[in-house]
Amino acid sequence: MHKDDCIFCKIALGKVPAHKIYEDDDVIAFLDISQTTKGHTLVIPKEHFDNYLATPQEVMHKVMDVAQHIGQAQIYVLGAKGVNILTNVNKEAGQSVMHFHVHVIPRYISKEGFRIEMKENPNIKDLSLPALAEQIKKGL
Ligand code: AMP
Ligand code: ZN
Repeated sequence: MHKDDCIFCKIALGKVPAHKIYEDDDVIAFLDISQTTKGHTLVIPKEHFDNYLATPQEVMHKVMDVAQHIGQAQIYVLGAKGVNILTNVNKEAGQSVMHFHVHVIPRYISKEGFRIEMKENPNIKDLSLPALAEQIKKGL
């Protein structure tokens, strides 16, 4: 299934050009139009799913397999020293294109481009980690 108004569906259908790196029956990888670092790549399923959590496991695995290969190539060919592999789910998490995609971002120099920092949030008070773990467990 494709969505008429989805830019990544248009890329998957060849209606919008992209700098493709990889393509098979189910997955395409292409350069992000806005290069956070040199070689910043997006990996998407050809079929439309809104995000990672909404993607069937089999398709998600295929996308993640390609993301791993792209990351390996960025280190091997581009000389990257590290790679960030990430996907945003919904606008609260920074997702701007609502078609599942994985960012594969080669890293050459620490802190160049962006930095993901997991800071402890001082506004979260009275948290019981055992109770929280139990709560999430119940949703599995
Ligand atoms: P996100 O913010 O995680 O949804 O990422 C969406 C990404 O898609 C951004 O990094 C954009 O630069 C990128 N993007 C949007 N339109 C295009 C396009 N036509 N070709 C390549 N990348 C695109
Ligand atoms: Zn789409």
